[in-house]
Amino acid sequence: MKKIVFATNNLHKLEELRRIVGSRFEVLSLNDIGCHDDIPETADTLEGNALQKARFIKEHYGYDCFADDTGLMVDALGGAPGVFSARYAGPAHDSQANMRLLLSNLRDHSDRKARFVTVIALLINGEEHLFKGTVEGSILSEPDGDGGFGYDPIFLPDEATVSFARMGADEKNAISHRGRATRQLIDFLENL
Ligand code: IMP
Repeated sequence: MKKIVFATNNLHKLEELRRIVGSRFEVLSLNDIGCHDDIPETADTLEGNALQKARFIKEHYGYDCFADDTGLMVDALGGAPGVFSARYAGPAHDSQANMRLLLSNLRDHSDRKARFVTVIALLINGEEHLFKGTVEGSILSEPDGDGGFGYDPIFLPDEATVSFARMGADEKNAISHRGRATRQLIDFLENL
């Protein structure tokens, strides 16, 4: 089976990704390749951050690899938290605090429209490729369900009647930002 590195140690993401990829590729994590570095993520776009992470792995470890960056864009907040989604409430990357801050900032807004966007940067055979997946939805007034991770409990996709946190893994992957970006990545890899 072909091996490729996914520049993450986020177990939720790895599990989601491996489920989508199935038996087509063996997806190695940063842990699997012995990388315990704090990979810089200092760009101001999702594309920039994804490329920065993938280039770091290629440069320091030599593997063909891909990296992702995701943001939740809320219309009434001018696209925030966007590229700062992970550290919206501070550097602790605390999902509960991030959700609380978002709900509080949206309290007086009737426009709840939002979207998740994932960008995947792939470095393979000396070339760079970008894949983008989006899911449109809205921000609930309070958390619904406790499955998933991150902002899942407060995101209601337009194509569903429950939040991401109430969906099974396959149900979420079928419509999610990461599912859509990942299927583009897989199509590309299969046609190499
Ligand atoms: P990252 O770029 O994947 O690290 O994600 C940035 C932020 O968005 C983090 O706070 C994640 O928890 C959140 N996030 C990423 N993907 C999802 C998702 O599928 N559901 C909910 N939150 C997510």
